[in-house]
Amino acid sequence: MTDRLVADDAEQPEGLIRAAELLRDGRLVAFGTETVYGLGADATNPLAVARIFEAKERPRFNPLISHFPDSESAFKQVVATPLARKLAEKFWPGPLTLVLPRHPDGEICDLAAAGLPTAAVRVPAQDTALALLRALGRPVAAPSANRSGAVSPSDADHVMDGLAGRIDAVLDTGPCAVGVESTILDLSGDTPRLLRPGGVTVEDIETVIGPVERHHDAREANAPIAPGMLTSHYAPGLPVALDVRSVQPDEALLAFGPPLTGARVLWNLSETGHLDEAASRLFAGLRALDRQGTQAGCSRIVVQPIPDTGLGLAIRDRLGRAAAPRPDADACQDAPSTQEHHVA
Ligand code: AMP
Ligand code: MG
Repeated sequence: MTDRLVADDAEQPEGLIRAAELLRDGRLVAFGTETVYGLGADATNPLAVARIFEAKERPRFNPLISHFPDSESAFKQVVATPLARKLAEKFWPGPLTLVLPRHPDGEICDLAAAGLPTAAVRVPAQDTALALLRALGRPVAAPSANRSGAVSPSDADHVMDGLAGRIDAVLDTGPCAVGVESTILDLSGDTPRLLRPGGVTVEDIETVIGPVERHHDAREANAPIAPGMLTSHYAPGLPVALDVRSVQPDEALLAFGPPLTGARVLWNLSETGHLDEAASRLFAGLRALDRQGTQAGCSRIVVQPIPDTGLGLAIRDRLGRAAAPRPDADACQDAPSTQEHHVA
């Protein structure tokens, strides 16, 4: 059942209070922003974030944008550069998303950031959305509220068409004013890079901070050399092998369901075989096995079979990237990337 909540009565904002309660409980609530309707979940709760991917049937864990009521709360979660502060002052609230290094004390979970050392943050220009974010007091991850591959929704009916029965509520805030997605600007490297054109033009951005590297230059410069070599994504130091049916004493085991016997180093994604739990524990598991396995002298991380249905698709996609052949040291040096292979 998907509740349809309204938030048009400022005196009795019951719909808004209910939406905040649901989010606090780790549930999914779609809400309008000035760009499109977002499918919101508590960005600090990996199980809640896993539910976003499940509801959207997204086959990949791509990083999500976290939403905030003001720049002060956004800049507690990421390290704000002077350029970021200038842009925030000029364009927030508004359709501009900034990619910045995650703050060491930040609470945005790994799944929301897809394991990256950076996070995307934004303050939307929609009063009800801002009131909801303020009421919750936590970052809200919110990709567009449609099934994967479908058109982004610009009113509550569109959201219901695609997601009724799959999410807990939609907060009906009327049609979206802008209707196109936010501009995404990466400020984590040496030069500002446009990752996605959107509601704020790059020319307007350049009047505030000077030259911005355009999308195409950036894409070419960062083109991965082989599949799975996405240099900006977390890859464990140990090699990874998928779909194993037995484990050697010198292997670290990423289990799913009843674990194989014999592993000295073990992380179970979900003892009960639940894919949402497995998704929520995936990045922590890779990091833990990498660290503990290396300490214990393990030769590699091995992964038990995970079903290729529902969230299993995205989990397998992510593990496939971790298991893909690595660039050799030379290729690594040649790769024109500003990102690290590993996340501390
Ligand atoms: P949406 O589905 O509209 O929320 O889009 C999210 C977009 O933001 C995707 O294209 C992501 O690749 C991009 N994005 C989010 N976080 C990051 C990040 N840390 N680094 C680069 N791109 C990001
Ligand atoms: Mg979308």
